[in-house]
Amino acid sequence: MIAEIISIGTEILLGDILNTNAEYLSKRLANLGVYLYHQSVVGDNAKRLEDELERAFSRSDLVITTGGLGPTKDDLTKEIGAEYFNISMELHEESYIKLTEYFKKQNRELTENNIKQAYFPVGSIILPNHFGTAPGCIINKNDKILILLPGPPKENIPMFENYVVPYINKLSNNTLISKTLRICGMGESMVATKINNIIDNQSNPTVAPYAKDNEVTLRITAKANNKEEGEKLIAPVENEIRNILGDNIYGINEDTLEGVVGEILIENNLTISVAESCTGGLLCGKLVNYPGISKVLIEGCVTYSNSSKMKRLGVSKSTLDKFGAVSEETAKEMAEGIAKASNSNIGISVTGIAGPDGGTTEKPVGLVYVGIYINGETFVKKLHLSGNRQTVRERTVTFALDWLRRLLSKISL
Ligand code: ATP
Ligand code: MG
Repeated sequence: MIAEIISIGTEILLGDILNTNAEYLSKRLANLGVYLYHQSVVGDNAKRLEDELERAFSRSDLVITTGGLGPTKDDLTKEIGAEYFNISMELHEESYIKLTEYFKKQNRELTENNIKQAYFPVGSIILPNHFGTAPGCIINKNDKILILLPGPPKENIPMFENYVVPYINKLSNNTLISKTLRICGMGESMVATKINNIIDNQSNPTVAPYAKDNEVTLRITAKANNKEEGEKLIAPVENEIRNILGDNIYGINEDTLEGVVGEILIENNLTISVAESCTGGLLCGKLVNYPGISKVLIEGCVTYSNSSKMKRLGVSKSTLDKFGAVSEETAKEMAEGIAKASNSNIGISVTGIAGPDGGTTEKPVGLVYVGIYINGETFVKKLHLSGNRQTVRERTVTFALDWLRRLLSKISL
């Protein structure tokens, strides 16, 4: 099956927003074994969208559009889609009721243009929208399939996963089972090089590396008749990858680094406190992402100034004078200081130069020290990170959590 994506919206054309829908959908289609040869972006313009549909169906069997399903005048994807197939529009009772209830709940009046969201091309499959008001739909006529999805990613992605993926799987008569391995502490190209042999010789399952948010994921996808068969195909490939990448793999599927660390802490009854300088609370915030963290997280301190480092953490003046705030010695005293002050088993500290200013030849932008105190022992790592201020801060947080995970697995707890 050959597919293509048409992203609709003048905002995307003008560069006001990034086309993350196309990025997401193309990766997923590749994963589902659907060929994708073209992608296009078109503004909110009826004529140009019509032309684009014509062109798309001249070379593809399946066209997925995103955007333009909302209530406003420039949301015209459904209407143009129906026109293309020469199908009229009708009110979809169920969507209309849902829409009415939604507006009632919000104490808002349901206006004529909003009712437009409950009209669909006759005979189309309606895709419920659990995160917004505009449902999507699928038109399947004369061996041409048009799938219309809403623009906002938080509506688009769940609709695709919940309704479009099963639909595509049914079309291709296969079930696709996949498992994601999550990797930290190794870049995408290094991962790809290490498992080069597996990637080169893949057929079923396929193995695809992706890099995102300072981590790499490997998605192993098997085509099979059922779930058990798929899992059986995945297992030996997963084992082979685990043998090569070892403890660089921190989790699977929906695991997060903070969740994995949080679980180790809880399992071992280890309390933790955080002292941050250049990350300004980002590390503590990340830990708080994990819902169970209150069992072990005692406190987080943003000790930005030297005086705060001395007052809150007990970093000595002589250390700051002699080695500076961004130094191994300060990181060590910060980690020990916060652990002591909060009476925690673990103290984790960060001090560094996130830039863009403040760097010197001796201490350039991107120089960061991470300190970890665990039950009487303190470790410090010196990092040289690249990127802008935000990237340096985010990379620091990922490193700190990953290093803590590794340390915890090595130390006998
Ligand atoms: P709405 O009901 O919100 O109007 P819609 O289906 O009509 O939804 P659009 O009006 O085209 O969609 O876009 C709404 C918002 O969704 C945009 O302002 C943008 O924030 C986001 N969005 C739209 N298309 C994309 C895209 N391709 N990638 C990422 N975000 C997008
Ligand atoms: Mg809209």
